[in-house]
This record gives sequence, C-alpha cells and structure tokens, in this order.
Amino acid sequence: MDMTGTKRREFPSLLEELGHVRRFVGGVVAGHPAEDDVILAVSELAANAVEHSAATRDDSFEVRITHLADAVRVEVHDHGGAGRPRAGVAGAEATRGRGLFLVDHLSRGWGITHKPDHTGVWCEIGCTCTLSSAAA
Ligand SMILES: [Zn+2]
Repeated sequence: MDMTGTKRREFPSLLEELGHVRRFVGGVVAGHPAEDDVILAVSELAANAVEHSAATRDDSFEVRITHLADAVRVEVHDHGGAGRPRAGVAGAEATRGRGLFLVDHLSRGWGITHKPDHTGVWCEIGCTCTLSSAAA
C-alpha cells in the first residue's frame, strides 16, 4: 500500500458504482494487513452514501483513503444536492445505522459530520505498520 498522501476519487451516487468503489479501494490498500476490513468498511459507507442521496441520483460522492501512522482512515463524503429536499430520510437513517454497526465492529473509531448540503462519514481501521515499517 502506498503510505503517502490521501487517495481520493469521485463516484456517481448509483448502486452500480459500488463495484467500482471496491476495486478502487482494493487497489489502494493492496497488500495491507487490514485490506479486507478496509474494503468492507468502505463498501458500507459508500452504500449508505448512495442510499442517502437516492432522491437526487445525479449526485456524486467522494471516497478518501489515508494511511495514518497506525491506522487506515477512510472517508466517504456525500455532497448531496444543496438546497434540494431528500426523500425517505427515516429509511435512509435506519439503513445507515445498520451499516455503521458493522463499521463500528471493524474500526477503532468512526464519526459523522452533518451539514445542510453535505454528510461525511469516516472511520479508522487500526494497523501496526509503523511497528513493522522495515517490511513496508
Ligand atoms: Zn497500516
């Protein structure tokens, strides 16, 4: 895994894009000890982002992956549609809760940032890369 900087890519908010998200993330974390957990966590966060913006299917979301000193931080930013209403918020929130139960299990920490036209979800999958940096 490339340890430098933040890798980011924008995806259309469509369920069909989740395979592309997994391939993008898989490429970034290839060979990392927590590869499988990171891909699983991002899949959940991305699926939530898609459902969250289901009412505005022309929207996109951005996936960011950063290798910290002792964790892989992943973020999914749902840009939403500024000023546009979102249908089915209750259902989306219920689904989000289930997905985040898994994320909570996989990660050492996670959080959500809400703004009127933007929702960001992040989580950090712990690792011990700095302890074994000779092998990196
Ligand atoms: Zn690591």
